[in-house]
Amino acid sequence: MIVTRFAPSPNGPLHLGHAYSAIVAHDLAKERGGRFLLRIEDIDGARSRPDLAEAFRADLAWLGLEWKEVPAQSTRLDAYAKAADRLRTEGLLYPCRCTRGEIAAAATRMGPDGPVYPGTCRGASFDVGQAAWRLDVAEALRRTGPLSWLDERAGEQQARPELLGDVILVRKEAETPASYHIAATLDDAADGVTLVTRGMDLFPATHVHRLLQGLLDLPVPTWHHHPLLLDETGQKLAKRRGSAGAGFGLADRRRAGEDGHALANSLRAGRLPAGITLGEGLSRLP
Ligand SMILES: [Zn+2]
Repeated sequence: MIVTRFAPSPNGPLHLGHAYSAIVAHDLAKERGGRFLLRIEDIDGARSRPDLAEAFRADLAWLGLEWKEVPAQSTRLDAYAKAADRLRTEGLLYPCRCTRGEIAAAATRMGPDGPVYPGTCRGASFDVGQAAWRLDVAEALRRTGPLSWLDERAGEQQARPELLGDVILVRKEAETPASYHIAATLDDAADGVTLVTRGMDLFPATHVHRLLQGLLDLPVPTWHHHPLLLDETGQKLAKRRGSAGAGFGLADRRRAGEDGHALANSLRAGRLPAGITLGEGLSRLP
């Protein structure tokens, strides 16, 4: 049976881009007689707000979606730590204390998420205090051998995790120890997700997630990376750029009395509010 999920972080209100993403996941499951899950990704430390998770549920119900909620990420920290321990024991993680500025200065190429970490600390030994732990991607790939994955829209992909460099799997902040990569990958496996739907902006991250599945013996889902809602400047709607406050916020529109079912049907039909277009976003297929 097909299982999809919508997995928002309660660090800011949802906007139309989230609505579109949730509708895609919901409809793909429903069309094929499957299940649609809601997972709250609340491991963003001090920025996580429980009141927002409640608003998210109200937003989804307002859009006319039905879901089954699975445990939030904050209940699964032990599982993330255990997986990281396994990779560390296998010699696949190394500690790193480089700052953002040091990485920017040392980087020789840009990746989908900014300057690619050049591996400065790989092989170095220092007393581990407050350090992040990075995945030795070259060594990890050597152990798994070549990997591939399937995106329903883009077709068969050769896994190229090296595009993102040695990503952080364990953050140095004690209250938010797991990175998005390890938490999302483990959760999708634990929740039985068979079709991972998300925006094109996360297409490059899938190379890393496929590698983690190989390393941790996890089932391999299929992916469906959907186009993004872009604003007038051609950038994707984003919480950090205030898109929810620019008239695109779901909770504001819901409280103002807009018909959520009608909005959902408009998004399904590609009828977008003024100033919004649907596109592949700035992250090109690598
Ligand atoms: Zn480093």
